[in-house]
Amino acid sequence: MSKYDVVVIGAGPAGYVAAIRAAQHGKKVACIDSWKNYDGSKAFGGTCLNAGCIPSKALLESSELYERARHEFDTHGIKVGDVGLDLGTMQKRRAGIVKQFTGGITALFKANGVQGMFGKGRMLGPGKVEYTPDDGNSEILETEHIVLASGSTPIELPNIPFDEKHIVDSWRALEFDSVPPTLGVIGGGVIGLELGSVWSRLGAEVTVLEALDDFLALADQQIAKDAMRQFKKQGLKFKLGARVNAGKVSDGKVKLSYQDKKGEHQLEVDKVIVAVGRRPYTDGLLADGTGVKLDQRGFIEVDDECRTGVSNVWAIGDCVRGPMLAHKGSEEGIMVADLIAGEVAELNYNVIPSVIYTAPEVAWVGKTEEELKKAGVRYKVGTFNFGANGRAKAMEQATGVAKVLAAQADDEILGVHIVGPLAGELIQECVLAMEFSASAEDIQRTIHAHPTLSEAIHEAALAVDKMAIHAINK
Ligand code: FAD
Ligand code: AMP
Repeated sequence: MSKYDVVVIGAGPAGYVAAIRAAQHGKKVACIDSWKNYDGSKAFGGTCLNAGCIPSKALLESSELYERARHEFDTHGIKVGDVGLDLGTMQKRRAGIVKQFTGGITALFKANGVQGMFGKGRMLGPGKVEYTPDDGNSEILETEHIVLASGSTPIELPNIPFDEKHIVDSWRALEFDSVPPTLGVIGGGVIGLELGSVWSRLGAEVTVLEALDDFLALADQQIAKDAMRQFKKQGLKFKLGARVNAGKVSDGKVKLSYQDKKGEHQLEVDKVIVAVGRRPYTDGLLADGTGVKLDQRGFIEVDDECRTGVSNVWAIGDCVRGPMLAHKGSEEGIMVADLIAGEVAELNYNVIPSVIYTAPEVAWVGKTEEELKKAGVRYKVGTFNFGANGRAKAMEQATGVAKVLAAQADDEILGVHIVGPLAGELIQECVLAMEFSASAEDIQRTIHAHPTLSEAIHEAALAVDKMAIHAINK
């Protein structure tokens, strides 16, 4: 029987980070992962590296360059011949980046002395994990601590089963080997918008069907409306308040049925991406009677410190409550490893940034205006349009808006919302500011380099007190 201080089940961004951090604290750590790619190869990194954050960003970058080469180069006075698409090379690049990063986790495990193990992990009880590699020869691992980090998996709609070819999940949708002429995307959330953008830029006619009446219902609605306007200009079609209830494949096409206020409608497309969210993945993770509890939606129940309630058993990442984001899971991994090492650690769940990597990007942190209104909080608003930002203009990306919300009472920043170029990078200054409970005045009095996109945040903070320099204050 092998003995460890910590056994982590799952090597996604939550699990592998927890494993490395625990090893840095001098713990003897094993990290088990059962990920298998379509070609049967195994890799650490979970959804994020293999089928999520990293491959989607690789394709978003490539497709945006393609789009800009076709439509923007003329404006810059750059003459190129016919711009063509070599999807094979684009996909090879995507796969190469994924391979480099998943291989990087193996290297980091080695460097930190983490025992990386491919196979299935199952918690038998406190201090006991069953490890089953592909050959089926199970082994019991004894350990002081168990960290459950089994992640999530795409939700399948009841009457729209995946067929791996015409009706697919987000992973398959990253690996299309040709551009579908017409594409339906069910779900207008982050994943639907990112994948819809990729295939739209590469030439597909994309229709996004979203059940809710509001676009990006969780985002600040001023920002969501601005984003929607820009996505529509790019050619994405939206059907809001449209709940898809059935999908059938016949003659190589998918016939979708959806319901909106006006009744039942049909849409015929070549392919469909189902992007209606993800569910926690805990299949086969827990033996009977471990004492670890799942809530009604299948998430492992944990407290603010990611303790399951069973002694020395922790759970982190997508398989527990909170936003399904890689950075949220990684920070939980660090917190748990620090707590295991006897350190004081906590996580500020109020300042988790969200980013949608479309063009323009959408990013936010903290409360939306709608949430503040609902909670009866008195607040001040400052906005600044990227149209008046020199760097954005130079980049030919001078669209969008930055918005800072600050408390009327003491000027503390309560939320920042951005739709604009590199919003995902810009939000980080605001996350840090909020982590330190900064006021709008703190950002106002911070020197921002000129000309940078970050000046839009500076101006939005100034606008909170009607003191913007490069805009008319209303
Ligand atoms: P996962 O990454 O799902 O990893 C869990 C791992 O555990 C998997 O490898 C699984 O095989 C393994 N496992 C499960 N059960 C067992 C078991 N019993 N034994 C052994 N191994 C097991 N998030 C962002 O923050 N930014 C983004 O830009 C972003 N883009 C995304 C794009 C797409 C298309 C998708 C699908 C997701 C995206 N996400 C993004 C979400 C992000 O991928 C997840 O939040 C993140 O991967 C969760 O990390 P995790 O470690 O909790 O789980
Ligand atoms: P997210 O949870 O951010 O990945 O977004 C998923 C989106 O899919 C949400 O906005 C849901 O409202 C939407 N959705 C869920 N089920 C359906 C459905 N049957 N038809 C259309 N949209 C849906």
